[in-house]
Amino acid sequence: MSAAVPPPADPAAAGEMAREAAAWCALHGLVVGDRADPRSGTVPGVGLVHAPFSLLPAHLPEPFWKQACELAPIFNELVDRVSLDGNFLQDSLSKTRQVDDFTSRLLEIHRKMMEINKEENIRLGLHRSDYMLDSETSSLLQIELNTISTSFPGLGPLVSELHRTLINQYGRVLSLEPKRVPGNAASSKFAEALARAWTEFDVDSAIVMMIVQPEERNMYDQYWITKYLKESYGITTLRKTLTQVEAEGHVLPDGTLLVDGKKVAVVYYRAGYTPNDYPSEAEWSARLLIEQSSSVKCPSISYQLVGTKRIQQELANPNVLERFLENKEDIAKLRKCFAGLWSLDDEEIIKTAIEKPELFVLKPQREGGGNNIYGLDLRETLTRLQKEGGDALAAYILMQRIFPKASLAYLVRGGICHEGLVISELGIYGSYLRSKDKVITNDQCGYLMRTKVSSSDEGGVAAGFAVLDSLYLT
Ligand code: ADP
Ligand code: MG
Ligand code: MG
Repeated sequence: MSAAVPPPADPAAAGEMAREAAAWCALHGLVVGDRADPRSGTVPGVGLVHAPFSLLPAHLPEPFWKQACELAPIFNELVDRVSLDGNFLQDSLSKTRQVDDFTSRLLEIHRKMMEINKEENIRLGLHRSDYMLDSETSSLLQIELNTISTSFPGLGPLVSELHRTLINQYGRVLSLEPKRVPGNAASSKFAEALARAWTEFDVDSAIVMMIVQPEERNMYDQYWITKYLKESYGITTLRKTLTQVEAEGHVLPDGTLLVDGKKVAVVYYRAGYTPNDYPSEAEWSARLLIEQSSSVKCPSISYQLVGTKRIQQELANPNVLERFLENKEDIAKLRKCFAGLWSLDDEEIIKTAIEKPELFVLKPQREGGGNNIYGLDLRETLTRLQKEGGDALAAYILMQRIFPKASLAYLVRGGICHEGLVISELGIYGSYLRSKDKVITNDQCGYLMRTKVSSSDEGGVAAGFAVLDSLYLT
């Protein structure tokens, strides 16, 4: 991550390579819906454009890669353990709930499930833990752990393939070897975990229901999972919005969820992580209905709450990991990747952040990119919230700002190749499946590199800040 592969010195050569790469994307399904076409988010096969990508993979020293891979099963286990402690989740988020409506609604469903002693015997997690390499300390630090709707398991592996193809073709000129781009099986591994959960559910006629947004330009990323489920396991995927689930779904007395007349074995959320996905009460009742059913939920409401920024920050407090994990080495490995994280009941840290806002990131309880506050905005927001008093500060956490080393790379977006100073964020996918006392799957399963110009604070690809990338081990 510290330095991208030296690009072809000649910009014309880079431009030619970018054209070939963009054609490869079209031929291999490395595509997204084009903003310019109004139908591209609703009608499959219409208005496609190649996904934004980096022309060559980002460099990463192999020890950091190994470290990140080793962390995946430990985080998987941690999420599962924390999810079982309902009171811990409720207590840690109790202040947040008073000032953040969205978190409060999630907690309300969670509390209802606690009241009826709802048990999830089959638990499926498809996570992605994101990291940046801090150049000052030369350490791999976690940005966040995503437990709901982790994006790009479908397209990520294609970028690795694209980069290998380009290196095969141009490797000698570039002095690169294709085998230094690690294999990436995120799409087939995610499908495998979903299929195994379906098998545990054990109803032959049942389907996987993917919860989607009504408009989704990243639908091809999702269709890759659908394709593997069908082709490798014969399992049908139904795409439904939460609004449709409310209209078409009900739960039988034995707990079976029926949607559109079909039994649902697994609910795979690719929506439901932002307040925008709940425009009315209908979507919240759909969420509650699903939670009450016996379907396997990926994720359950508890798994989703474990992925909040506030829980990330709480887990970094002294002696908290020890409540959930026994293995001391595992605990030490996790702690090593934690950056500084603070809740805003700490007056000292607020003072420091107001004095030196460039060293911090202010984060609300949101997902999907574009929500964080930096620099002078951070100073202004903290000063204002502090003046207002009350609990408004509880809607945020503070995080140490991580500074990856910037390097030059070519980024390709909409058929145009730009050279820029960039930084990268490494995501490691993890899959976890448990049936009662038996852990069926606990794996690292592929990766996603995202690269953005170093002057941009935010990192989302769908949000338009970053491009998809892969990695080159050094
Ligand atoms: P989200 O859940 O919205 O993706 P993140 O915590 O991942 O929220 O933050 C969004 C982006 O902001 C990240 O992809 C990264 O580019 C940037 N970012 C987040 N935390 C930090 C940090 N501590 N230091 C530097 N950049 C950060
Ligand atoms: Mg996130
Ligand atoms: Mg993120």
